[in-house]
Amino acid sequence: MMAAGKPEVSVLQDYESPWMDDELRAFRDTAARFVEKEMLPHDARWRAQHHVDREVWRLAGATGLLLLDVPTEYGGGGGDFRHECVLYQELARRALSGFGQGVHSICAHYVLNYGTEAHKQRWLPRMASGDLIGAIAMTEPGAGSDLQGIRTRAVREGDHYVINGSKIFITNGGSADLLMLVVRTNPDDRKKGLSILMVETQGLEGYRVGRVLDKMGMPAQDTAELFFENVRVPADCLLGGEEGRGMYQMMGDLPYERATIAVCGVAAMEGAVAETARYIKERKAFGKAIGEFQNSRFS
Ligand SMILES: Cc1cc2nc3c(=O)[nH]c(=O)nc-3n(C[C@H](O)[C@H](O)[C@H](O)COP(=O)(O)OP(=O)(O)OC[C@H]3O[C@@H](n4cnc5c(N)ncnc54)[C@H](O)[C@@H]3O)c2cc1C
Repeated sequence: MMAAGKPEVSVLQDYESPWMDDELRAFRDTAARFVEKEMLPHDARWRAQHHVDREVWRLAGATGLLLLDVPTEYGGGGGDFRHECVLYQELARRALSGFGQGVHSICAHYVLNYGTEAHKQRWLPRMASGDLIGAIAMTEPGAGSDLQGIRTRAVREGDHYVINGSKIFITNGGSADLLMLVVRTNPDDRKKGLSILMVETQGLEGYRVGRVLDKMGMPAQDTAELFFENVRVPADCLLGGEEGRGMYQMMGDLPYERATIAVCGVAAMEGAVAETARYIKERKAFGKAIGEFQNSRFS
């Protein structure tokens, strides 16, 4: 782990992506300072409690670190995918996996790409300020890679949808205020029977967060189960204006999500190499730095 105290930004920033420029470097310094001041000192506690503090979302919003590639008219940073990548890198290089700003951003992208103007005005500014935490709720116990197997059912009743079912492995699940929720609106059509509802969870009757799941890694992340029992939501939270668009909307946005996972994976490896290099120079045994021993030099 990174030693507490003085930030060691320089070691980690030896690994610079080829698309960086001066503006992104300045933004990276802001992000690195925030991460080292507002997150790193709390990480051990966050790992133990299995979630980050809610306050850090508002601090990140106030520092301009949320919805980086969403237009400024909706409260976002007005940047592009590179700005998002910079923040992913600064977190992943320090092995900080509790703060789920990735799925938060992805949730916002569904609103941005498929929502009405009213949807964007309703949710994006509050997501950018960190007042509303987003999650994407696709996976179910019987539907992971095969998303067409989703069974959580939403039935239209007048001006509402009534939702019954459950989700699992939902990042930010324990803290989410806004769910991008994939539901089945037509049981007879595997592909065209899926729709996306944007669901605000505060005070929602019949909605319950289940277990925060134990995982091999990412202990500070509140990956959770979600349950819906006769949950009624206004019909105008349907994304895209018509039922049956859910699979196509996911096909449009999942590549963005998967690309961010790759960026984090590479950054986490770079961080591990940088931290190992630092440690073997610093750690002494038998009168010299352990990096000078032949077996350390092999690797
Ligand atoms: C830490 C974490 C966070 C997550 N966060 C979220 C989240 O925020 N929201 C959300 O909705 N979901 C989330 N997920 C769920 C994740 O998207 C699913 O785990 C993933 O889609 C795989 O589904 P599954 O676990 O059911 O595995 P399965 O689909 O059952 O797959 C099991 C194995 O079979 C293989 N397999 C499946 N289909 C094929 C095929 N056609 N060809 C070859 N091999 C195949 C898979 O590669 C895998 O090795 C999260 C998962 C984890 C672990």
